[in-house]
Amino acid sequence: MSFDPVTLAIPLFIILIVVELLWAHKRRPQAYESRDTATSLAIGLGSTMIGALTGGAVLAMLVWAHNVSPFSIGWVWWAWPLCFALDDFAYYLFHRSAHRVRWFWASHVNHHSSQHYNLSTALRQSWTGFIALSFVFRLPLAFAGFEPAMILACGGINLIYQFWIHTESVGRMPRWFEAVMNTPSHHRVHHAVNPRYLDKNYAGVFIVWDKMFGTFVPEDDEDQIRYGIVNQLGTFNLITSVFHEWIAIAKDLWHAPWRHKLDYLWREPGWTHDGSRETSDMIRARWDRRES
Ligand SMILES: [Zn+2]
Ligand SMILES: [Zn+2]
Repeated sequence: MSFDPVTLAIPLFIILIVVELLWAHKRRPQAYESRDTATSLAIGLGSTMIGALTGGAVLAMLVWAHNVSPFSIGWVWWAWPLCFALDDFAYYLFHRSAHRVRWFWASHVNHHSSQHYNLSTALRQSWTGFIALSFVFRLPLAFAGFEPAMILACGGINLIYQFWIHTESVGRMPRWFEAVMNTPSHHRVHHAVNPRYLDKNYAGVFIVWDKMFGTFVPEDDEDQIRYGIVNQLGTFNLITSVFHEWIAIAKDLWHAPWRHKLDYLWREPGWTHDGSRETSDMIRARWDRRES
């Protein structure tokens, strides 16, 4: 087993959730709903257990990629910041495709299905990331010569960073920090279903990727955020929460005409061959027309 910083951080997660619960109790009671939090904790626990099962296979693939590569960087000190920054870029690419390719979305939607935004929402990690091939985005780092254990450690630290930004208790961080780093404000936008916010702010740690690639939108205090997914689940059932989009894909595959079946796997969520549903681009276009 390789070193997993996320497991070590679990006590910290629990302490911060308790602190946020105390804050919410006084200042923002609607931030937490017990059934929603229970589902979030269960999803987090399940994903940790599945991660322990699939982690070995992911590590094996990284080791394979590292071994066939002509490059080997080793454990020199400067490899750490470089690996961390490149892994964060790989995370941006993974996350963007997780919102734009339905096969990947079916796994990632877990993280977005809560209509609440609090630290427990951060624990909603995918159960089916391995099936959705999430690890593929890390393989180029191993091919580039980074040590597999270093790549996984950087990915773990990245995930730990993302924990604290799932809160409404922090308004804005100092300007320089908001300019470079992913923050509660930027990530609230990412979890919002307001049309202007759909499919924006994919960053993990550094918000600069969104600014570079045109997917950044700042939080507008005038536009009150609604959290969740475009078609809200309307249930706290654990199995529905985890598998609903996979089930929806299976149904579409069954009913779709043959020449469109594959489209239901790789096109963006909401795409249909007969236009009977809306993609995020269509929702935003409709909203733009109404605004102008
Ligand atoms: Zn997302
Ligand atoms: Zn999130």
